[in-house]
Amino acid sequence: MAEAQSAIVVGAGVGGLAVAVRLALKGYRVTVLESAASFGGKMQQMDLMVSTVSKSIATDEKAGYRFDTGPSLFTLPYLVDDLFREAGRDPSAYFRYERLDPVTEYFFADGTRLTAWADPARLAEEVEAKLSVPAAAVRAHLARAARVYEGTAPTFLGRSLHRAATYLHPDVLRAIAVIPQMGLLRSMHGANARAAHGDTRLTQLFDRYATYNGSDPYQAPATLNLIPHLEFGLGAYYPEGGIYAIARSIHQLAEELGVTFRFQTPVAEIVVANARVTGVRTAAGEVLPASVVVSNADVVPTYRRLLPTQPAPEQTLRQPRSSSALIFYWGIDRSFPELDLHNIFFSADYQAEFTDIFRRKTVPADPTVYVNISSKKSPDHAPPGHENWFVMVNVPHDDGSQDWPALIAQTRTAVLKRLQQALGTAVENHITVEKIWEPRQIAADTSSFGGALYGASSNNALAAFLRHPNFSSRIGGLFFCGGSVHPGGGIPLCLLSARLVGEMA
Ligand code: FAD
Repeated sequence: MAEAQSAIVVGAGVGGLAVAVRLALKGYRVTVLESAASFGGKMQQMDLMVSTVSKSIATDEKAGYRFDTGPSLFTLPYLVDDLFREAGRDPSAYFRYERLDPVTEYFFADGTRLTAWADPARLAEEVEAKLSVPAAAVRAHLARAARVYEGTAPTFLGRSLHRAATYLHPDVLRAIAVIPQMGLLRSMHGANARAAHGDTRLTQLFDRYATYNGSDPYQAPATLNLIPHLEFGLGAYYPEGGIYAIARSIHQLAEELGVTFRFQTPVAEIVVANARVTGVRTAAGEVLPASVVVSNADVVPTYRRLLPTQPAPEQTLRQPRSSSALIFYWGIDRSFPELDLHNIFFSADYQAEFTDIFRRKTVPADPTVYVNISSKKSPDHAPPGHENWFVMVNVPHDDGSQDWPALIAQTRTAVLKRLQQALGTAVENHITVEKIWEPRQIAADTSSFGGALYGASSNNALAAFLRHPNFSSRIGGLFFCGGSVHPGGGIPLCLLSARLVGEMA
């Protein structure tokens, strides 16, 4: 039997883990090299222990909170299941999840509250009751989202846009058929204001889906309005034990398939000879041969640091970045029954917020606040009677111009004020322990360029075509997966990028 060929994966983010599984299933001998001490990339977990005896945890000094530090919203779980099925395993033996209903609690600046139920008909009724917009408007919006998703996803997400064969596939005809409904030439916001009958709150709710891949609804094409279909048509989910279960279960499968993991092993160079990869050189100087190298690292540092002598696709690398995030992880010493797993506290002026983030490259003075509380679903994530709050605001990626310490202080005050206004409680008095993650640190911890969460933004109609392909057209054996390349950022799309590389390598 011929000896298995070697493949090296640079990075153990969710895309890197999935591609390792797929390459192992194809018969490659796979090694994953990861700079960090563990797998997961942006999908990490953290325990925060209360070291000082607080008034409310006086009996248990070791009381601790567990956090998923990165992603919190999970859709398209079949993409995780597929990895186990393709390996001949029962997915539920490794990874279980529940469908969320309700999906999100919304708090508008004018004091209106709305529950986003999973069932589109129930959501439509809630919108009619709370916002006085006809239920039919919501049903029509979601039906359009479903048509655009079903027409375009097989082509735009499930296939390479950079291979001629894609354009000969019958799926393309379906994609062409929905082009008039895609709204390539209209902004998301323009389409949403119309769909919401001019109601600014419902428009804001629909516009918010631009942030699911770090984009600006006032610039992004209306095509992105397919995103709500993921939540209300296909479902939003919570993995048993928290989001990190996704990384943990795929890592377990990869190990069972014989993949070797080496942590704290940064790659310094992807070695190329005669227009083919021959392996990698680690920062410690070790040269590891391989016939296939997959970079799961952000594509910008992949070219700038790991391939400095190779011609880089400058237009692709210059695409505007997606937003980053400023996150406060708070241990909270009481529970808030009016809150659920996902909670949104909207700002009063959404347009000003996005102008600040994407044009002025600063943090809005009045930001929309997202609070994720995983202890609502996993009570062991906080001591009894307590909650673990992941409090996030969207901010620009770090371009070196921002005064982050000042912006963080200003934002903390604004967030506490907004929460007090909505909840009628001074949340600050209930914070037992705090940690902060901000764009510079996100960049340092995950090698993401500028700390952008989703690679390039989708702020123009051609963004899908300008993302880097999953392969190199100049260097044989070199592939790319993860949120900064086709088809884009977020857990499901990273998993799709791994599937595409698995098909190509
Ligand atoms: P990454 O997570 O980017 O990991 C890349 C890995 O490569 C890292 O571990 C890095 O250390 C390693 N690496 C880089 N360079 C080297 C090198 N030279 N040598 C060795 N290793 C290297 N997505 C959602 O779907 N839902 C959400 O709710 C959501 N919210 C988010 C909130 C936050 C705060 C963050 C940070 C992200 C969020 N995302 C969300 C985005 C999602 O987390 C990412 O799209 C996804 O996890 C990225 O996976 P990836 O495969 O691109 O790899």
